[in-house]
Amino acid sequence: MRYYSLKRKSPDVSFQDAVINGLAPDRSLYFPESISLLSKSFFKNIDQYTNEEIAYHVIKQFIGDEIPIDVLQGIIKNTLYFDFPIIPINDSISALELFHGPTMSFKDVGAAFMANCLGYFNKNNNKLTVLVATSGDTGGAVARGFLGIKGIEVVILYPSGKVSDIQERQLTTLGQNISAIQLDGSFDDCQEMVKKAFLDNQIKRKITSANSINIARWLPQMFYYFIAYKQVYKQKKDIVFSVPSGNFGNICAAIMTKKLGLPIKHFIASTNINDTVPNYLANGVYDPKPSKVTISNAMDVGKPSNFIRIQKLFNNDLSSLKKLFSAYSFTDKETKNAMRRIHKNSKYLADPHGAVGYLGAKLFQKKNPKSLCIFLETAHPVKFIDIVNETLSERIAIPKQIKSIFRKEKKSIKIKTYQDLKCFLNSERLF
Ligand SMILES: *Cc1c(COP(=O)(O)O)cnc(C)c1O
Repeated sequence: MRYYSLKRKSPDVSFQDAVINGLAPDRSLYFPESISLLSKSFFKNIDQYTNEEIAYHVIKQFIGDEIPIDVLQGIIKNTLYFDFPIIPINDSISALELFHGPTMSFKDVGAAFMANCLGYFNKNNNKLTVLVATSGDTGGAVARGFLGIKGIEVVILYPSGKVSDIQERQLTTLGQNISAIQLDGSFDDCQEMVKKAFLDNQIKRKITSANSINIARWLPQMFYYFIAYKQVYKQKKDIVFSVPSGNFGNICAAIMTKKLGLPIKHFIASTNINDTVPNYLANGVYDPKPSKVTISNAMDVGKPSNFIRIQKLFNNDLSSLKKLFSAYSFTDKETKNAMRRIHKNSKYLADPHGAVGYLGAKLFQKKNPKSLCIFLETAHPVKFIDIVNETLSERIAIPKQIKSIFRKEKKSIKIKTYQDLKCFLNSERLF
């Protein structure tokens, strides 16, 4: 499969080069040259396929012959080894739990898929360094996805004292080919430094990024929707997904599934008060703003990088976009009330991101009472334990994935300046 840059100012590339480049040289995002429908019989008999077989059918057209079939099946096996259950909240709203992976974030799927693809493409063992800035969730999932992948070293940069204890442990206790650096500064400073490092030709290491605009993190997110469809299609209801959205990568993958023929009625992007996209749908003006801090902080994005891909999927036509897609924004107060209501009525613990998704589902359902609305639970509530404990009377039981990291020692390097980072990256051995 060929990929082109949405700005069309860089050459078309293969899947492999798009994965290695991340961003196109013209600073725009890659997009597949064509998207084909899957067969009708696949959808009719989808309950006969395992999750791994479904994933293979979904992704193969985007890779073509660049990865041998058996290797691709192995990559999928390393990506989808946990469950994706649907939990009914009431008769017409359900939660799709995407947090049963190793770091309890839905980002585990994209991170593992990308890590395994890069591991394959790097088969000559040319040392490659993945450099990522994180405000919390991404770093942990990327670090875990790349753990033990041959020839690849991962350097995670995070703002000192600004990630939660659990998140810090997920970044700093892995060892092997993962190293963590804490910067005396903010997340924005971390991101600035990473950008600078990519352009710095005095850095001798070959470095690449693993952020969410990479096609190998974006495309495998389609798997969730097919796997969910398999579980509910026999109910013969109109299916609607509500996706808690920040950078709009996940919801964009959701809409892509429609181009493959998945019979979904409507897609909802649910956001916190970072409401660039809901505003755009309401008044037609796209006006990105600096991000605002909220309790659903993995969605604190004022300039969602993947929205350009969503516009492309609708040929930049706002009216056809609105037929299939809605976007709603909610405040922290509404989010906390939703967490309380879900817990009181259904005994279900939602994290703040899932609760935003629930609110979107609820709002849509007022006008469409017959549909089955599925909201995505994108992180386990334990990852936001302080907010959950403060909002609900219930205490969260600590799951086994998280318990194990409390026994390990945190290891990270403290830095203050860009020069420190550069010195580190130019040292002979990172570990
Ligand atoms: C990253 C993240 C999101 C937002 O996903 P996007 O693809 O960036 O829209 C939502 N919830 C959680 C818990 C996340 O970590």
